[in-house]
Amino acid sequence: MSGSCTAGRILVVGGGITSAITTCKLAEKLQKCNICVWDKARGAGGRMATSRSSGNPQCKVDLGAQYISCSPENQLLNKDIYDDLISAELLRDLNPQDIEGFRHGEDGTKHYVTRHGVSSLVKHFFNRSKVCVDFGKCVTDVSVAGEQLSVTSKEGTQEQFDGMILTIPIPQVLDLKGDINQMILNNPTVHENLKKIEYSTRFAVGLFYDTSVDIPVEWTAKYISGHDIYRYVAIDNKKRGDLTGPTSVVAHTSVPFGIRNIEATPDSMKDMLVKSLLELFPTWPQPSSVKCLKWKFSQVSRSYPSSDGCLVLNEKPLVILAGDAFTKSGLDGCALSAKAAANSFLNNTSF
Ligand code: FAD
Repeated sequence: MSGSCTAGRILVVGGGITSAITTCKLAEKLQKCNICVWDKARGAGGRMATSRSSGNPQCKVDLGAQYISCSPENQLLNKDIYDDLISAELLRDLNPQDIEGFRHGEDGTKHYVTRHGVSSLVKHFFNRSKVCVDFGKCVTDVSVAGEQLSVTSKEGTQEQFDGMILTIPIPQVLDLKGDINQMILNNPTVHENLKKIEYSTRFAVGLFYDTSVDIPVEWTAKYISGHDIYRYVAIDNKKRGDLTGPTSVVAHTSVPFGIRNIEATPDSMKDMLVKSLLELFPTWPQPSSVKCLKWKFSQVSRSYPSSDGCLVLNEKPLVILAGDAFTKSGLDGCALSAKAAANSFLNNTSF
């Protein structure tokens, strides 16, 4: 392991929480390396997405991850992460009684919500790393060029790197073109295990009210049982502890609904989803605007078997796969994978 890299150029693909923590850990150790991060989206967060209303940017909603649950074991393993986020005042305690149908988890589990939206956790680690994320760069091809990797984006750029860590969902890794396919096929067990990784699918609907309106419910969030479409709904500003700011609501569909409609586009579902939500809660006012997303790869339902938190796909040049597929979905799983990926990267290079 070395911190004296002078020429190494590293690419971390993805702008979600795994990438942010990996980048932060690498930047601490490889101060002289050039670390780049590419994400196809327009902003940081990935599945920890916080979306803002175009009518009032103060009106925001978490469309993916909702709250953070940390088991006693992970309170120890990820103490560094929680100490950092709590001292930056990004997390606040969640009162489980605010959520109807809440599952408490193992005894001693701590639950948190974010004060400023869940993407603030991701932004925090990118800021700490001082690495500037290149948004709007979708990796399409990873090939070998001598001792380096040549990475091409859909937008037409092609750049060389000495090593890379991919933190994108595994089906999107399997869709990449170039020599990375051969790296996967070189080990049939790895190929089979990657193909077996499964994710649930859900739609998310965000209602922006732009001003503070009265939503006459006792709860902050609620799990819904026995509904054809919806599984979860939250008054998002209330969840974040912002009782006076603009009102926003998020609702997630059930997994069976997501699977039944896996090929549908969010645009084609949006009106029906809003109508159904307002039929479920008929006293709620019409929102000023709506955002609808499909999380095709939502939470990992079948992870990579007996993984160490990441996978070294190729040693020279170094390619590592990381993310919740190698642990489990949620902040803890991603943090453990990120730390494993950063350690593995440092142990496998002479940078
Ligand atoms: P991602 O966040 O998916 O990041 C991958 C990034 O890669 C994305 O930003 C994507 O744009 C980018 N990308 C993909 N392909 C390419 C490409 N070819 N080139 C460049 N960039 C690319 N977790 C919790 O802790 N609590 C919860 O309550 C919770 N609820 C959830 C509810 C929903 C609906 C969803 C979807 C997730 C939820 N999770 C929850 C899970 C949690 O959000 C994820 O485990 C975590 O965000 C995964 O982070 P990641 O960085 O590994 O992947």
